[in-house]
Amino acid sequence: MTGPQEWTRIRFPSVGDTHRPSFASASVHHVLTVSLRGHTDLARWVRYLLDADLAVSAAWPSETAVRVPYRYRKQARRMRKLRSSVTMMEQAAESNSWSGAFAFARRHPRFGIPYLRGKWLSTKAAPRVEDFAETKSFTSLVRLFFFHPFVTVRRVLPRLRFTRGNDERDEVERPKDALDSGGSMPEPEMEVDQDDVDTLEMLAEAEKGYLDRQIVSAAIRQSDANLFGGPDRDGDGFVRLMLRESYHDFVLPGSEERHHVVFEPRLLLHESGVAQLDLALSVETSLEVRQVLAMMWGPEPMFVRSEMSAPLIQGTSWESLADFSEGTLDAGQPLGVIEHSEPVSMQDLLHMHFLAVLRIIKRSYTYWTSYPVAIVGSSHCCGPEEWQRTHQEDLIRLTIRSSHDGEVAEHILPPKDLSLSRNHSLFAQLGSAIYLQWKGTPPRGIDELNTVLVLEYALLAYVRLHALEEDVSRMVAGERRLRARYRTAVRLFSELRQRDLRSGEARDIVRHVFDDLGVPEIRRTIETALSLSASAYSTRSAERAARRAWWITLIATLIGLVVALPPLRDLLASVPAVEPGEAWPLAPLRWLAEQGFWGPWLALAGLLVAVLALWVLGWCWRWRIRRLPSFRRGYKWPTEFTFTDDRFSPAAGGPQRTEIEAEL
Ligand SMILES: [Zn+2]
Repeated sequence: MTGPQEWTRIRFPSVGDTHRPSFASASVHHVLTVSLRGHTDLARWVRYLLDADLAVSAAWPSETAVRVPYRYRKQARRMRKLRSSVTMMEQAAESNSWSGAFAFARRHPRFGIPYLRGKWLSTKAAPRVEDFAETKSFTSLVRLFFFHPFVTVRRVLPRLRFTRGNDERDEVERPKDALDSGGSMPEPEMEVDQDDVDTLEMLAEAEKGYLDRQIVSAAIRQSDANLFGGPDRDGDGFVRLMLRESYHDFVLPGSEERHHVVFEPRLLLHESGVAQLDLALSVETSLEVRQVLAMMWGPEPMFVRSEMSAPLIQGTSWESLADFSEGTLDAGQPLGVIEHSEPVSMQDLLHMHFLAVLRIIKRSYTYWTSYPVAIVGSSHCCGPEEWQRTHQEDLIRLTIRSSHDGEVAEHILPPKDLSLSRNHSLFAQLGSAIYLQWKGTPPRGIDELNTVLVLEYALLAYVRLHALEEDVSRMVAGERRLRARYRTAVRLFSELRQRDLRSGEARDIVRHVFDDLGVPEIRRTIETALSLSASAYSTRSAERAARRAWWITLIATLIGLVVALPPLRDLLASVPAVEPGEAWPLAPLRWLAEQGFWGPWLALAGLLVAVLALWVLGWCWRWRIRRLPSFRRGYKWPTEFTFTDDRFSPAAGGPQRTEIEAEL
């Protein structure tokens, strides 16, 4: 009887078992994918963004270095010079040779000449001073003066105290000290070493500042290269940028705690005119289902305070709200504090960051979609398989982002787990994806990208496909445009086969998301539209050929008529004189003959008028059915209705409210 009992326990958990699950941590990437209007110029856009100080670094797939604004060129050159001078000095000190010291002085006189002087003093002057200090004889002083007059006059003589009555013997007061206390003079090697350390530290410090920002770009490019291949990557079909950071405080529903988050916005620009922005939100405390749902819901208002630097909010409504009075600088730009009177949502922030980009590259967008990817560390209240059974309803809520307090219908099953590992699960749906770590700690930072980049790839392909669908639905196209469409379609379709994905797991994920997003249907629409526009094009080119033939005929006719002028004149000249009982058509002919020179011309003009009249009549007959559409929709009653309702949120507490207002 244990079997059925076991089954009962799983299907309907007993009272003691109904604990709500909680989560140890959550990190949600909100991915905004947008298709832009107008033509694309990636290199120029990147340069504009870097120069405007909005982007801090850009990584092209084919390069190993990272691109930064042009104004860093000066710093880079100075650093390279400094580093090479330090290296040369180290080499010269190591070899202890004069040739090394001279080479160093010649190459970098600023540091080399003091070094050379120090070396000369320590190896040549110091032994003679010591000799003089030991013997204290006049001859050694003379020798010292002869070889090193400057050192003797400036450093040694002021320290000498002469004893009265003894010319031969001088009382020398520790002449060695003269050199010891001589500042830069003695022990030059020691001092150079100290300088060396300082310079290197300074260099490392300054370089760290620059490299810290670039290293993320380089790391992302590496993850990208590990996951994907293909022509986009070989031919620099896209570029990844890091934008300036922004800082925000948010409050999750059901708690008073303020969380702080630093956004490190990642931007991808694709040559097809699609852009993708990623902002990640993370929390490291215990979370309820409702709070995770709030984090995954783009329109959820939860941000109460923002700190954003000037390039991010310039020219927006937020610029006037921001308080720059503290005078804080963030990476060289003033940082403004915004206390939101009404909490703003993740979607607002995504758009704010994205609008800053659009302002710089001077583009507008046609279509956007935002997709959250959550990476959640589960509380270990139950084992991996048991968790999914015990908390099935919450699992469904999280995967389809349904209301946290609404009941899930019985026929709804958890979606397909796309993970190949037992330690975590991945559910990717139409509107969101969630990665649940059952055992161990969930991936953090750059490791998160292994999952996020795959979903970003799927969304990018989807929006590109969407843009192509819109493009092909405008049927009229010239030959060149049509050919470009075919090329784009072929490239995109081969990417839909996930040709560029290196791992099988990633392929499964992308295929699943594609199916959910209706990619196969969009693909069929595009194929149909392309074949229709191809046949429309061939019809149109046939029409154009026919029209061209018509014009040629017309011109030939006109030439024929002009050629026919002299015979016509002869004909008119031969019209016989009036005779009673003649045929009536001779009357107009005779009239034309009476006009003399203009006669044949008038005959041709008469023919032309007749042809034109026929043509106009035919045109009127063809368009007789066409009528303008009516604009009259019935009488507009003067009352206007406005609705105010709580926008849906899976994390909302209490009932939803809708108000209707009628205004006369
Ligand atoms: Zn549990």
